[in-house]
Amino acid sequence: MPDCLFCRIIAGKVPSKKVYEDEYVYAFEDIRPTAPTHVLVVPKRHVPGLNEATAQDAEIIGRCNLVAAKIGRERNIVDGYRTVFNVGPRSGQSVFHLHLHLVGGRDLAWPPG
Ligand code: AMP
Ligand code: ZN
Repeated sequence: MPDCLFCRIIAGKVPSKKVYEDEYVYAFEDIRPTAPTHVLVVPKRHVPGLNEATAQDAEIIGRCNLVAAKIGRERNIVDGYRTVFNVGPRSGQSVFHLHLHLVGGRDLAWPPG
């Protein structure tokens, strides 16, 4: 296993508040939520980030977004949420295992910071 926080979370070696899981994807509550809903949706397979993703990751990137949409419907935040991949240190990416932020449940300013 790569020395990776999110791989350890997926393996159950670091605790998390699970929101959703299937064969390909694990979703859990962000430990420092920036909105009433702030869930991280991650592929179970270790991919460092969007910049390192290849064509073989296309399906999992779609799956992450569809899982986010399902959680958004379940939480009744479909009047406004955002799905975000931070890419690279200037974007604030701090964990280098691909993860989709699902942020919603409040008004969201645009453009983001
Ligand atoms: P990013 O800054 O885009 O790489 O996002 C990483 C996210 O992971 C941040 O929003 C952190 O709050 C979150 N995070 C870091 N450690 C944990 C953890 N142990 N459990 C849940 N979320 C975490
Ligand atoms: Zn990982």
